[in-house]
Amino acid sequence: MGRIRILPDQVANQIAAGEVVDRPASVVKELLENSLDAGANRVSIIVEAGGRKLIRITDDGHGMNRDDALLAFERHATSKLRTADDLLSIATLGFRGEALPSIASVARVILETCPAPPSEPSINEQVVGTRLEIAGGKILHVDDAALPRGTTLAVADLFFNTPARRKYLRAESTELAHVTALVTHYALAHPEKHFELASASHNIISAPPVARTAERIYQIFGKETLSQLLPVAAETPLQRAGLPEPPPWKRDPEEPARDPGSMRLSGFYSKPELQKLNRNSIYIFINKRIIRDRLLMHAITEAYRNVIPPTSYPVVLLFLEMPPEEVDVNVHPAKTEVRFRQQSLIHDFVRDSLRTALIQARPAAGFLAALDSSAAASPSLMPPAISPLPGMPGASVAIDSDPESLENAQADTAAFQLTPRQPTPAPGRLPFDAHIQHSCGSLDSVESAEAWGEAVSALFKPGISQPVEDGSQNQLGGTGSTGYLADVASTTARIEAEQAAATLNHLGSLKPLAQLRESFILASGDDGLWIIDQHVAHERVLFEKILRDRQVEKVQRQRLLMPMLVELRPWQMVVFARIAEELERNGFEVEPFGPHTLAVKAAPVGLEGAELERMLAEVIEQSGADSGQSPQNQDLTTLRSRIAASIACHSAIKVNTALDPVRMEWLLLELAKTSHPTSCPHGRPIALLYSWKDIQRAFHRI
Ligand code: ADP
Ligand code: MG
Repeated sequence: MGRIRILPDQVANQIAAGEVVDRPASVVKELLENSLDAGANRVSIIVEAGGRKLIRITDDGHGMNRDDALLAFERHATSKLRTADDLLSIATLGFRGEALPSIASVARVILETCPAPPSEPSINEQVVGTRLEIAGGKILHVDDAALPRGTTLAVADLFFNTPARRKYLRAESTELAHVTALVTHYALAHPEKHFELASASHNIISAPPVARTAERIYQIFGKETLSQLLPVAAETPLQRAGLPEPPPWKRDPEEPARDPGSMRLSGFYSKPELQKLNRNSIYIFINKRIIRDRLLMHAITEAYRNVIPPTSYPVVLLFLEMPPEEVDVNVHPAKTEVRFRQQSLIHDFVRDSLRTALIQARPAAGFLAALDSSAAASPSLMPPAISPLPGMPGASVAIDSDPESLENAQADTAAFQLTPRQPTPAPGRLPFDAHIQHSCGSLDSVESAEAWGEAVSALFKPGISQPVEDGSQNQLGGTGSTGYLADVASTTARIEAEQAAATLNHLGSLKPLAQLRESFILASGDDGLWIIDQHVAHERVLFEKILRDRQVEKVQRQRLLMPMLVELRPWQMVVFARIAEELERNGFEVEPFGPHTLAVKAAPVGLEGAELERMLAEVIEQSGADSGQSPQNQDLTTLRSRIAASIACHSAIKVNTALDPVRMEWLLLELAKTSHPTSCPHGRPIALLYSWKDIQRAFHRI
């Protein structure tokens, strides 16, 4: 007898479950996606004990009839795909038909579902609902039931029969944080839908439908967050390249060539003053599906290059829409990774759109906001270990590696706003990665089937009251409370208008008033009092000029009267050899002068003496950190901007240097001409505004 056996379905499902569901948030993700695929306009979710004890999701989607309800729990049963060709253009969030059987194999599930009545009343078909109970993959009961249209799924005792998995679950508050982050993402992607998330004791998210994403951001994160973000929108036609063509024998010669369509981008990005220590506040959606993608992460980081420090990350909410055949979503079990057919096109489109938006908006930083906003001073609200996406490789590993620091980090951060409208987060803090401080009960998983049955049935009793925090229970709660919605709309519009006004576009018309300690320029404008750091301002001016000159090979060099000798260690010589050519194109003339010494004969105009020496040491040091990459592989753009930044820094006007009014005016005018007058190439702010409004407010005039 052979050795090979076909695995029983139950075992196969548990293995699949390992890929699809690894924690409560991934269950919520699959169920939420199903609800959205079912066309739901309202989804409410209740979780208990961080989702270990219970996850219950109710939608008003198209529901299922009895046959479909039973089929839904079969492996690879899906209504969303028919043929392999359909895989080329997936327009739904789900398509594998694996989620429900996987979840049902590791939990106890009750499904209650009822389809919509037939559209033609003449068909005299009785619409009945179905109630289905499954535990560990076995169907226990199927009954008809009178139910409203839509679907409710209750998933209780997750991993009750797979103790190894259960062991890997983290603290309830951590799991709840993951669930919250996930629901937050989908709520952001669908402002037109109603989302609710509640734990046993709190209303966590309550977001009635609104007209625009900006309003949804305000609804969920509050005023402070919205006022730190700027909108971006762009569109580009797609080329034919990469589109799947039908084979020649299937092609219809009569049919005109298909329009490859276009790619649209919309969303929000943070002003340079807002900096995060990790990527957790960058959200990317492709056709409303939340994904993690290195290519697009790179494009975003590129857009912010030399605007924020290389070690910081912005906050970005990016929604990309493209024809489904442009993106392959069938590459990851949890569907969180995708592959683009036209990678570089998409990468450059994202980078350039964001960069252009940053250049056009030239957002001005307020003085007080800048005080709180250095990345070092404001840790990300979500501990780095918490990936907003469940099922991402590395997410749980990182958490497991240092649970201590995770809990501490959580304790540091502000509680997620339980009543989103009231308390706004402190300036400089961005509760993007929502997290909840939750009264942690112990995990008392109900082991026996009867006890479980009672517990879950209780949840289905009509009129179950949902204990909520206190009297402040959200003004948002009421559906369609028009007052609330009008309020959201008008506040959002006001914040957006303030944002648009806070720009550095008027920099050129500022009047320099004086110099503060020979280091900062004070200038007045219609919008208030400006304080400008003279060194970084000049640095930005020089940086952009050097890059421009380098681009057209027009760098101005000056001969040194005496060659300057620089001693280098052997590793520094190696690095120097690697970057010598680029240095030369930037105006340097350097020759070896013995085995450990270089003779610098010419340098870019404005760079002299000790500063010249420091600049060279700095660039060699930084390039050395790139560790042994060959020049071809080394990112030439990085090297170029590194050299430009270093030359700029070492030849710019220093602090403690007296400037006469003419020179101050010149500097402001030059700064006004730059693309990014907001921050120096290393990411420090250049000009800060004490707004007229703040000044009036501080003097109690308004
Ligand atoms: P997939 O989403 O990949 O198709 P699932 O296992 O998640 O696979 O779901 C199986 C099928 O069950 C779906 O294709 C859909 O037809 C049906 N289904 C699941 N959830 C819902 C829901 N909330 N409302 C209506 N139909 C649903
Ligand atoms: Mg699904």
